[in-house]
Amino acid sequence: MHVDGCDFAVIGGGLVGATIAGSLAAGGLRVVVLDEGDVALRASRGNFALVWTQGKGADMPRYAEWTCHSVSLWREFCAELLAQTGLDVSYEQPGGFHLALCEQELEYLTANRNVGGQSDATPFPRCEIMGASEIRSRLPHVGAEVVGGSYCPLDGHVNALRLLRAIHRAMIARGVAYRPNSRVTEIEFDGAFRLRLEDAGTVKADRLLLAAGLDNARLAPMVGLAAPVRSQRGQILVTEKTRPFLNFPIATVRQTDEGSVLIGDSQEEVGPDGPVATGIASVMASRALRMFPCLAGLKIVRWWDCWRVVSPDGYPIYDRSESHPGAFLATCHSGVTLAAAHAKLLAPAILNGELPAPFAAFSARRFDVRAHC
Ligand SMILES: Cc1cc2nc3c(=O)[nH]c(=O)nc-3n(C[C@H](O)[C@H](O)[C@H](O)COP(=O)(O)OP(=O)(O)OC[C@H]3O[C@@H](n4cnc5c(N)ncnc54)[C@H](O)[C@@H]3O)c2cc1C
Repeated sequence: MHVDGCDFAVIGGGLVGATIAGSLAAGGLRVVVLDEGDVALRASRGNFALVWTQGKGADMPRYAEWTCHSVSLWREFCAELLAQTGLDVSYEQPGGFHLALCEQELEYLTANRNVGGQSDATPFPRCEIMGASEIRSRLPHVGAEVVGGSYCPLDGHVNALRLLRAIHRAMIARGVAYRPNSRVTEIEFDGAFRLRLEDAGTVKADRLLLAAGLDNARLAPMVGLAAPVRSQRGQILVTEKTRPFLNFPIATVRQTDEGSVLIGDSQEEVGPDGPVATGIASVMASRALRMFPCLAGLKIVRWWDCWRVVSPDGYPIYDRSESHPGAFLATCHSGVTLAAAHAKLLAPAILNGELPAPFAAFSARRFDVRAHC
């Protein structure tokens, strides 16, 4: 494949790349998305699909603010997806819970949530800590071992695969040229970007966005940027469909709009070649059963692991290259939650060719500062 003369090439057709590409095309640019395909590690195909604010950004207020801003844009974002694609991504925002199975877990939640008494100016979402009886009044099916939990009214969830499908459909409807099975191996720059593909094709573009998930680590230095991301494994168990019993998403258990129950999701510092830890899946299942004994007897019909794209401090990296004008990078570990902000705030900034001051906190340069401290 040889493509010449596009305004913007986006490397990566996951949630981050496809969302931003759609907005760039809506802004009038000719956009091509190059996507490696099924052999790639793709967080967008295996996530837990929470649209979540609770506990986010504890040591980076700007991230808490960014997350809350994204959540505030979510209804509008999915209404636009519906209008454009006919796909309802089933976004629900009833508020979400973290449940505690012992007093220490409840103490941790109490210490790490923004509970009453703080000013409205705080960027952190306001949470309530609830005791067992209050939890039971909202979640009648919780087990006797649940001693309490935290609740945040901003939290919600979505149908993950339908979301990715809708974002892809929307970007194609807006005129993006989507090229699957197109792995970029090298990037050259001579005022424009020349991307070499594994199949020996080339793509030439005036501007470039790196949204290749874990492969951003390899690609970023080719355009004078850095993306020191690592993979972190998450396992998810899926049950057969059952009658509706859970009206709120819990951080580790949620019932989808189609009736199945997702039990998630571990955080394992293991690379893609590491052994699968079946013990971790057992712990996840047993905790879910202690939270909701009514899950007993349901069959697990799917079990997968998938790799998060995680930066050294866990927060997103958004950057613009100084040495290669026109090159941008975007990566984050909450690409579902942040999809609305990526579509409505980040993409317009990239379209304008600048990342304004509020994005400075997300530059990978923050890691240089830390390294020198
Ligand atoms: C277990 C788990 C649970 C999660 N739960 C949640 C959650 O509840 N809420 C939430 O907000 N987020 C969650 N996430 C995170 C979310 O899924 C990711 O932040 C998001 O999917 C990242 O999207 P991405 O496009 O950056 O990366 P990816 O989905 O990895 O996409 C990268 C794309 O780049 C392509 N690519 C890679 N290299 C190249 C190359 N050289 N050339 C061309 N294409 C290339 C790949 O084919 C892929 O399509 C979870 C993730 C995991 C793993």
